[in-house]
Amino acid sequence: MKSHLKMGGCWSLPLFLLLGLANATPALALEEQGNRAKNIILFIGDGVDAHQLTIARAYLYGQDGSLSFDQFDHQASARVRTVSDDDGTTPVYVPDSASTGSAIASGIVTSRGRIGTTAKTDRDVPTILEIAQAAGRRTGVVSTASITDATPAVFMAHTSVRFCQGPRDMDGTSAGLPGCPKDTRAEGGSGSIAEQIARAQVDVLLGGGTRYLSQRGEDGEIVLEQMTKGGYQLVKSAKELAAFTPNGRQRLLGLFGNSTLPTEWAGERGRFAEEVKLSEEGPIYPEPITCQPNPLFGKRPTLVEMTKKAIATLAHDGDRSEGFFLMVESASIDKQAHAMNPCGQIGETLALSDSVKVAMKFAQSEKDTLIIVTSDHGHAPQLIPYPSLFVAFAPDNPIPMYPPGRVALLEPAAGGVMAISYGTNAKYLEEHTGTAIPVFAQGPGAAAVKGLINQSDLFSIMKAALADQ
Ligand SMILES: [Zn+2]
Repeated sequence: MKSHLKMGGCWSLPLFLLLGLANATPALALEEQGNRAKNIILFIGDGVDAHQLTIARAYLYGQDGSLSFDQFDHQASARVRTVSDDDGTTPVYVPDSASTGSAIASGIVTSRGRIGTTAKTDRDVPTILEIAQAAGRRTGVVSTASITDATPAVFMAHTSVRFCQGPRDMDGTSAGLPGCPKDTRAEGGSGSIAEQIARAQVDVLLGGGTRYLSQRGEDGEIVLEQMTKGGYQLVKSAKELAAFTPNGRQRLLGLFGNSTLPTEWAGERGRFAEEVKLSEEGPIYPEPITCQPNPLFGKRPTLVEMTKKAIATLAHDGDRSEGFFLMVESASIDKQAHAMNPCGQIGETLALSDSVKVAMKFAQSEKDTLIIVTSDHGHAPQLIPYPSLFVAFAPDNPIPMYPPGRVALLEPAAGGVMAISYGTNAKYLEEHTGTAIPVFAQGPGAAAVKGLINQSDLFSIMKAALADQ
């Protein structure tokens, strides 16, 4: 990274440039009157698209069911755009969470794997969290992944490679993933994502990632110790989180696992999707999976509990509060879709929906709160016919492998059988897809969420809503 935005570097710019008032698009500008938001709460369901929402709605609430944010007045479909890092312009049609997160957080179209940096030219771009901080708002990041993972990282850090989560990853990870040796501070960069988070002065940080924050940074100090010495109160369980009471501007750091937190739901006996077997009579499907609370979840806080505490902490001064920006990620919708685990995915979508309810309740009394619920990219799981519409009509053909890949049958309380197919890379990990993603919004500034927009417009919408009165 060629860092023009080293620690605190962007604050040397005039505030009006950071807020970008001069270049707000006309569509946004006309919405601005009366559309300033004191608080912004951004929810990201990682890997959520219309198909994943349909699966969750149908399983949880039946065919007529809806999730909490389905009632929002303002909804849009957003184009997801990514480019090649070779030339910075050639379209790439399927993204990752780093490129798409950077679009939401910084309003850029960049290449896969990048955290708040431009494709090819490797330039740091200010994030909405940094802009909110510069405008005097308090800030928070909550995730069910490591807080150093791509989606939370794009709000707080700038690197060329998302895998540089801890200081030990700068030359490449132990799993063989690429590093970013040029981003070390010795080379003039900003260091690992963990070290950047330690310096980012975010007021509330809740999630996993102890393994990255426990590493020794380039300055010789353990990152986590640096944070607690610098004023963070560290909590490690649901009980400790519940006991935390905001005290002045004390910062809160909740670490509830080494990396990604366990999901709230799991299939019985840990079952995932399985391969369909073939017989002379046709395909033999695996037995239906029963979704149940995940016995491995432990004493961690739920996403709802983390969201409640984050909002309460950031808003604890009530009317005297300066307002805040909070990002909440339900990360394992994506991670469990990769793993072909429908119960894990549906449970985390329910956690997202219930966490949005927490924000909606807050916004009932704090009406100048903009809530946006969106996704970074689409995912592979598909709801398919059960049984096939066509296999039975092809008796003269060899018995087809249907569905290919793996499949999970679920029996929702509303009745019937849902078949969820995993067919993009079922021998390893399912792939992302390049579909447009949904956006739901309510509150000041939400009217700009309509029709077909670009994912990077979400940055402009939030920036316009943040602008001072
Ligand atoms: Zn993914």
